[in-house]
Amino acid sequence: MTSRIVTYGSPVLRKIAEPITENTELEQTVNRMFSILDKEEGIGLAAPQIGISKRIFIIDTTPLINDDPEIEIIRQAFINPSIIEYSSEKSIYNEGCLSIPGIYEIVERPAHIKVSFSDMELKLVEKVLSGIEARIFQHEFDHLEGILFTDRLDPMRKLLISSKLKKLQKSSRI
Ligand SMILES: [Zn+2]
Repeated sequence: MTSRIVTYGSPVLRKIAEPITENTELEQTVNRMFSILDKEEGIGLAAPQIGISKRIFIIDTTPLINDDPEIEIIRQAFINPSIIEYSSEKSIYNEGCLSIPGIYEIVERPAHIKVSFSDMELKLVEKVLSGIEARIFQHEFDHLEGILFTDRLDPMRKLLISSKLKKLQKSSRI
């Protein structure tokens, strides 16, 4: 299996990922995801981004400590996640994506969310998330639904980055 991150244009990024029903290879997959994320110095990675169409993503806020020494360190895997409630309050953040290299855009999303997910023992957890954790959770959750952050931009911003996206699509790593 390849350890490379698939990029914009790869069909797996547009598929709805399959739920995890047993923990066969779960630890192996999650460990591999963390080692790729560490190498890329990213803050989130969803399984479809490494070509695995399964409902798993990981978050690691460690790289953000340089910008904000007060940040809460979250390094965790989320299995079969879902978003139960969204706040009407919104926040904005300059998002990027390891599958869309070189493109960063402001994205508006709900500021707080209530979520559920399974942990590595497949035990169900419910939590209310805010701040950067809510932000990354929503970005990564979108990956499991075949949605990319560039889909969420207004038509004008989309138009402005369309040639960059086309170029990425042409050279996409599958
Ligand atoms: Zn992404």
